[in-house]
Amino acid sequence: MSQDHRLVVTIDGAAGTGKTSVARELARRLGTDCLDTGAMYRAVAVIAVDQGVAPSDGKKLAALVTEQGIRFDWSQSPPPILLAGKDISVRIRDLDVSAVVSVVAEQSEIRKVLVEQQRKISQDHPTLVTEGRDQGSVVFPDAAAQFYLEAAMEERTKRRLLQLQESGTNTDALTVENDITSRDKIDSSREDSPLTCPSSAIVIDTSDKTMLEVVDIMERVVREHLATLDHA
Ligand code: C5P
Repeated sequence: MSQDHRLVVTIDGAAGTGKTSVARELARRLGTDCLDTGAMYRAVAVIAVDQGVAPSDGKKLAALVTEQGIRFDWSQSPPPILLAGKDISVRIRDLDVSAVVSVVAEQSEIRKVLVEQQRKISQDHPTLVTEGRDQGSVVFPDAAAQFYLEAAMEERTKRRLLQLQESGTNTDALTVENDITSRDKIDSSREDSPLTCPSSAIVIDTSDKTMLEVVDIMERVVREHLATLDHA
């Protein structure tokens, strides 16, 4: 993908719908960078847990994020997330962080800081696949292509459990399902930027598809879009 053109592709959806793995593979095929915005909210949750700040204290957490700095190391792929220069990409997946991240993400002060950073990242990385909950609906409403992923709860739980087990976390299906259900509830009902399917998004149910099948669909849509630009 040429860096002469701007290309933003958004992928939104709830936890366990497969966003992170499809976003990485789509970015690899298109030759773009890939932004995991959930990692940014998780980084703020790490500040809350590790520095003893209430996850609902948006003002204090927003000040601490600005002071300590969250950034990605773009020299690596996927880029690890750094807090105050320290790689926290493993820490952000821990269950104590997951347990508070949706409360952190409800706070408008924090969303404002992170959305600003996400838009800045897209200026520095003009070809970008970005995934989260509000990327198409709020952050990049003019994205070239928008996708919204869905999956059955059983499948979402299975995938998340496997991910956690692979990274060495000892947990069980019920704990994971409870985490997903409680995050879904908060993410979908919050006032600021609730999880919603953008009106122009292509909806893909990933329950009975492999990651590669989902990416095949997305890649076709994006390449068709790029072809129409070439012929314009
Ligand atoms: O994508 P992931 O499950 O890692 O996201 C963790 C949490 O971060 C979500 O449950 C949600 O509360 C929050 N989030 C958000 N907006 C985004 C990305 C993530 O509110 N764009």
